[in-house]
Amino acid sequence: MIEDKNPQRTSIENLGEFGLIDHITQNTPLNHESSHKGIGDDAAVLKHNESTVVTTDMLVEGIHFDLSYVPLKHLGYKAVMVNLSDVYAMNALPTQITVSIAMSNRFPVEAVEELYDGIKLACKLYNVDLVGGDTTASQSGLVISITAIGEQKAEDIIYRSGAGDNDLLVVSGDLGAAYMGLQILEREKAVYKANPNNQPDVEAYSYLLERQLKPEARKDIPKLLEELEVKPTSMIDLSDGLSSEIIHLCKNSNIGMKLYEEKLPLDPTVIAACEEFNLDSTTIALSGGEDYELLFTVKQEDFPKIKANPSLSIIGHAVPKSDGIHLITRSGEQIPIKAMGWNSFQE
Ligand code: ADP
Ligand code: MG
Repeated sequence: MIEDKNPQRTSIENLGEFGLIDHITQNTPLNHESSHKGIGDDAAVLKHNESTVVTTDMLVEGIHFDLSYVPLKHLGYKAVMVNLSDVYAMNALPTQITVSIAMSNRFPVEAVEELYDGIKLACKLYNVDLVGGDTTASQSGLVISITAIGEQKAEDIIYRSGAGDNDLLVVSGDLGAAYMGLQILEREKAVYKANPNNQPDVEAYSYLLERQLKPEARKDIPKLLEELEVKPTSMIDLSDGLSSEIIHLCKNSNIGMKLYEEKLPLDPTVIAACEEFNLDSTTIALSGGEDYELLFTVKQEDFPKIKANPSLSIIGHAVPKSDGIHLITRSGEQIPIKAMGWNSFQE
């Protein structure tokens, strides 16, 4: 699948650590007034007018990604997205990131460039400034750790803890596509291993692959909610899977939840792929991770403002904590929801 088509490879040793840092940190414009000093000193200097939110996510080769089918540019882009998604989930606006990478010195400079092409593209499209980072050698694969920084008025930051007993549960976009994209990639990798001449035909799965390889953080959703004049009472982003994120919201807000199977938003290509892989689409919607959608609660009175919005699905409602957290199936059965989210510590 991913072959090295570029025989021109420059060894990192040719540049040295400082040469490499200079090389990859070229073209890092500062667009935010709050970015007082970016790359080039011992630390960046930021001046936010409002509260600052800070979040970090690390991606580790072999745990979070497989370089045999993940293009480096996509990986860089995705590493930024997973962090920005957390900032949006606080209802804040991301303004800066720092990027730390550990990699083998067998990695050619061109590969690092590709990774940074993706990082810089994400910065450009989401208007965030790259203000620093760290670069080190690694003996065990590539590690990318990104810290995202954002800003919001203290009173407008939305926590996991604010949901009330009667609130509605809402999710943006659709569920399970990134997980099914991963299944396609794993299958094609196995096919390729068995027969390297076999050219994969993944056209029909382009939406699933895009959701896995090039996710977008939902920067449009906080904006949409503002336009609709809806302020969520609690919010979280979907990284590990719907069921575990619902449990986080419920624990932090001291509530229970009823989630309706028939309301789960699924793209037709997810349903088709689930049939093909003999997987239950509800299980995938609940446990498939990496959707990077926003999950939030709103007050009942906001129902008319969101009910017809094509970007939002009302999938459940809060209940008192003592009622527990349940999935109501199409046939009306109540099934307790357990954390089935993707977990890198599980085998
Ligand atoms: P120090 O030794 O003081 O930590 P470095 O030589 O590691 O400084 O970094 C020099 C500058 O380059 C700093 O501003 C740092 O934030 C930035 N930097 C280093 N590595 C990266 C990277 N991988 N991505 C972005 N900026 C980086
Ligand atoms: Mg350093």
